[in-house]
Amino acid sequence: MKIFDKLYINGAWVAGAGGGTIDVINAATEEVMGRIPEGVEADAEAAIAAAKAAFGAWSATPAAKRGEALAAIAAALKARGDEFARTITGEVGVPFKLAQRVMVGNPLNTFGMYAKLAAEFEFEKTVGNSLIVREPVGVVAAITPWNFPLHQIALKVAAALAAGCTVVLKPSEVAPLNAFMLAEIMHEVGLPKGVFNLVSGYGPVVGEVLARSPDVDMVSFTGSTRAGKRVSELAAQTVKRVALELGGKSAAIILDDADLATAVKATVSYCYLNSGQTCAATTRMLVPESRYVEAAQIATEVAGGFTVGDPMGDARLGPLISGVQRDRVRAYIRKGIEEGATLLAGGAEAPDGQPRGYFVKPTVFGNVKPEMTIAREEIFGPVLSILTYKDEADAVRIANDSVYGLAGTIWSKDEARAMRVARQVRAGQIDINGGPFNPMAPFGGFKQSGNGRESGVYGLEEFLEYKSLQLRPPKAA
Ligand code: NAD
Repeated sequence: MKIFDKLYINGAWVAGAGGGTIDVINAATEEVMGRIPEGVEADAEAAIAAAKAAFGAWSATPAAKRGEALAAIAAALKARGDEFARTITGEVGVPFKLAQRVMVGNPLNTFGMYAKLAAEFEFEKTVGNSLIVREPVGVVAAITPWNFPLHQIALKVAAALAAGCTVVLKPSEVAPLNAFMLAEIMHEVGLPKGVFNLVSGYGPVVGEVLARSPDVDMVSFTGSTRAGKRVSELAAQTVKRVALELGGKSAAIILDDADLATAVKATVSYCYLNSGQTCAATTRMLVPESRYVEAAQIATEVAGGFTVGDPMGDARLGPLISGVQRDRVRAYIRKGIEEGATLLAGGAEAPDGQPRGYFVKPTVFGNVKPEMTIAREEIFGPVLSILTYKDEADAVRIANDSVYGLAGTIWSKDEARAMRVARQVRAGQIDINGGPFNPMAPFGGFKQSGNGRESGVYGLEEFLEYKSLQLRPPKAA
């Protein structure tokens, strides 16, 4: 049991003004595994005031020195890596090995990356008679979701601190324990008071105070499109900057010359990553009509290899994060059957031998039509839809027939052809033939998948303003 009974505001652990608490549930056992304070408006206001007061000194701290603080955070995270991974496995339900590699490995690298970028970034540049200065945007509110909780926190917090901003973090109330552990680290490495503040609580309460506040200069939000729209509406009243990383319905386009076995296997695995609770997951697999039967057969076999069970054991697929998510995903599976898609694997019933925990069977639908609900809405569970296309242009049309535009993959023996198709897909990142994730590349979405980019130097620039200093050219002698 991990109990945190205080919020972290202005460099100290303080009791919340409301006195309420929120239980954190283990996704595999359904037992209470921790508790956090339910922050209220007054807590959010106190954190904003602390961040505002700390901004002057932190923004004036040399960037290389801010980088040193980030390097110290990375080192402290590394030292507690397995404790973080166990905690996130409990909160989210992700298999422990994946938690070590992705849920903790990525944040660790992110803090390390921004330590380096802070030291190397050119904050000033001369253009004609102007000196262009990059200055931190100010007080940043970071509002984060539960699916890759520490990764999403690190992308915002590390980049904002590197830029010279001060931060109020409102983590997801569903998987918040890792954020409290991070605050312990912030305290331990001696970050100046008020530079990083943590207020837990519910989105419509704490999150909305942050989005509305005239003293917050920017909201960096990752989560659902629904909540992102609400944050944007509130933020518009003070014309603050808003960065949004939202949902997705990404397509894997498998071209007719692709190595089908490799492409299908990779697509199913990407779709099921973190039990399908991955914003960039390839949930629509597009195959040529002529190769549908073969592709469906491979996908069914691959799905069968995804053993469901204890995420601390050998299972490849852990539970979903909550009962609400499990029920939502099972409702989508029923909807897919009702609308006439062919259920090839899985289904809406509980998996065998799992009386407890929020488990869902790894599911594959064939003969999915672009207009079906399961082809259009983000399901956020282990559910793959297989659609067929007539030719390359038809594949691109179907891939782009979505309100989202977060990610995608293209598979072809001919890389130039794959690149040509990739350029036509309206999405923020496209992997060609299994090209690996690159943290130095920008991550973010087109269309309703969001605004702005995270990661690498692009993520740092999100938290910077431009200032142009016009200089008088020297008088000719
Ligand atoms: P969510 O929108 O319910 O919650 C995200 C955060 O927003 C939480 O901290 C929540 O408390 C807060 N929030 C909720 N309502 C709010 C409001 N009215 N005002 C201010 N804050 C509010 O999302 P979730 O269920 O935690 O996460 C899943 C969603 O996140 C999925 O749609 C997924 O695609 C998306 N996501 C996107 C990315 C990306 O980079 N594009 C990454 C991960 C997750």
